[in-house]
Amino acid sequence: MVERQLRARDIADERVLGAMGRVPRELFVPQELRHRAYDDAALPIGDGQTISQPYMVARICEELALRGCERVLDVGTGSGYGAAVLAELAAEVHSIERVTELAERARTTLGRAGYEGVEVHVGDGSLGLPEHAPFAAIAVGAAAPSAPVALVEQLELGGRLVVPVGRRKAQRLELVLRLAEGPAVVRSVPCRFVPLVGEGGFGP
Ligand code: SAH
Repeated sequence: MVERQLRARDIADERVLGAMGRVPRELFVPQELRHRAYDDAALPIGDGQTISQPYMVARICEELALRGCERVLDVGTGSGYGAAVLAELAAEVHSIERVTELAERARTTLGRAGYEGVEVHVGDGSLGLPEHAPFAAIAVGAAAPSAPVALVEQLELGGRLVVPVGRRKAQRLELVLRLAEGPAVVRSVPCRFVPLVGEGGFGP
């Protein structure tokens, strides 16, 4: 997976490649799909949701440019896989999921995989997690019509937000940098994520 799906494309950050190689993805997919855990694809995890494609997880992490000392927010815990990769790359990881059952399952899986330090919260992540802000980096694993304002506001100065932005079925990955003069946006690869629901997403 690391060599063919990530390095051979354009993932170059050795810390990200190392993290992707260490997290056991098979623990984060449903038992009956274990044989496909390292496929170049998103996979269903129940409740109409998916575990993101490995390439997109790596791409988001690379754009966050983590060094190891950061406090990070992961919006849309899902299986917990993205949160686990972030835990390999940063000091403190908060992850927020709106579906209680998914959050509970992710908490169990993260513990089993050795990432018990990840704090999983239940709630509308499109509003961020004000009680733990500011964050050096925020990763959103679901698509929004535009970068949620609350998330930009919860970035520290110089902080980075990566979020798929666009229509329900087609988006581009957007990197928002919070600079002193205001937010700067860099668009990159086309992508397709499940929708971010909630106030800062596609609505309730
Ligand atoms: N990073 C996850 C991706 C899961 S898919 C993984 O690696 O498995 C996106 C998740 O975002 C879904 O579980 C969905 O329920 C959740 N989601 C959608 N809107 C949300 C919101 N407003 N707040 C929190 N989670 C949300």
